[in-house]
Amino acid sequence: MNTDYDLMIVGSGLVGASLAITLADQGLKIALIDANPPHNPAGRPSYDDRGIALAYGTRRIFEAMHVWRDLEPDAESIKAIHISDRGHFGFTHLRAEEENVPALGYVLTARRLGQTLLAHLAKNTGLDIIAPAKVTAIDNQPEQVTVEVAQADHQCRLSAKLLVAADGTHSFVREQLQMPTVRLAYGQTALVANITPEQPHANCAYERFTDTGPVALLPMSEGRCKLVWTVLDDQAEAVMALDGQAFMQAFQQRFGYRLGYFQRVGERQSYPLGLLRARQSVRARVVVIGNAAHTLHPIAGQGFNLGIRDVAALVDVIRENRNDIGAAKALQQYQAWRESEQRVMARATDGLARLFTNPLWSLRLGRNLGLLALDAMPFAKHRLSRAAMGLNGRLPSLARGIPLG
Ligand SMILES: Cc1cc2nc3c(=O)[nH]c(=O)nc-3n(C[C@H](O)[C@H](O)[C@H](O)COP(=O)(O)OP(=O)(O)OC[C@H]3O[C@@H](n4cnc5c(N)ncnc54)[C@H](O)[C@@H]3O)c2cc1C
Repeated sequence: MNTDYDLMIVGSGLVGASLAITLADQGLKIALIDANPPHNPAGRPSYDDRGIALAYGTRRIFEAMHVWRDLEPDAESIKAIHISDRGHFGFTHLRAEEENVPALGYVLTARRLGQTLLAHLAKNTGLDIIAPAKVTAIDNQPEQVTVEVAQADHQCRLSAKLLVAADGTHSFVREQLQMPTVRLAYGQTALVANITPEQPHANCAYERFTDTGPVALLPMSEGRCKLVWTVLDDQAEAVMALDGQAFMQAFQQRFGYRLGYFQRVGERQSYPLGLLRARQSVRARVVVIGNAAHTLHPIAGQGFNLGIRDVAALVDVIRENRNDIGAAKALQQYQAWRESEQRVMARATDGLARLFTNPLWSLRLGRNLGLLALDAMPFAKHRLSRAAMGLNGRLPSLARGIPLG
């Protein structure tokens, strides 16, 4: 086995795997290290049954990576997004046709996405996949970075010019390098399930803001919808314990009857919610991306979409700095590019999560007028649609649909 690489990627979740696939045939010596067994998605957050919403911009990146054709058959398109405040008058409607795109986004299960990425990884014989293996120590020096890797029966040291940490919310690398973070607890838990409504979803996604937190219903295949229901932490256990029928009735109270009565609900999962953002995402020879750099409230389904845009930007920076992919100049270039979108997206999802749970009538009135005004202002709606599609700001080559040469 090699011990000296150009690039080491820690974490083969959705984000780390996407980076490895994209760079696999670019003439770099790459190691991909993950604590879980290779090609076995069981028990990993990136590979569970929850539906995941992919922005239109993410589709473009996957097209340029030659991955989209394998995802498309299972991806249900989102043609419209209806945003409203439960029990109040404000609402707005975003539509794909107004943006001249075939869809604002797509929904498929994280499991399907994960399996497809793992299948593409398996085709890339140029990569060293080191798993199950845990990074247990890190030494980043100006000229190279070295890690200790623990496997079942032995320990080894690996070095590289650049280490990319895609090791998730509890990132070992970020913690070890004491990178400063902003952390907020919401006291909310997201309940996620697939649910079948009486009426066809007609490819419309619904975001409703309620006094206990937002709920979302996203169109999926076979007439199902992905439900994301945010409840206060102290209610989560009781709601999870309801039987299927009682759960659907309780959700019906929150969501209303816009799609008729709910008919069936699948397995439910719960995720405690918080916000985490690394104030800086680079250190000497190290860059932190994906959930390790920013873990968002799932209110707008943007976490992975932001992570794949980290991947696309990093790929451009690496290709522009072929002589030394981990040089300080390259890392500063990456940070300057990504910092503002990461900060804006974290603030926006945090603001939405808080604003819409505030019971003050003046805020309620303001946000309802805001939603109505938004509906009447094509330019503001266009900006919101572009943000939801991941098409605002400076776009990396992959996000413009340009495959790597
Ligand atoms: C309820 C919910 C709904 C969501 N819905 C959406 C949505 O609709 N759209 C969207 O874009 N996003 C959504 N997200 C966010 C999305 O799921 C995440 O952003 C994405 O899965 C993060 O992937 P990742 O690869 O960054 O991290 P992870 O999936 O956490 O992967 C990290 C990997 O690192 C490995 N690892 C960790 N430590 C080590 C170590 N020391 N050594 C070696 N390996 C290590 C782990 O084994 C793991 O495989 C949602 C999230 C939640 C909770």
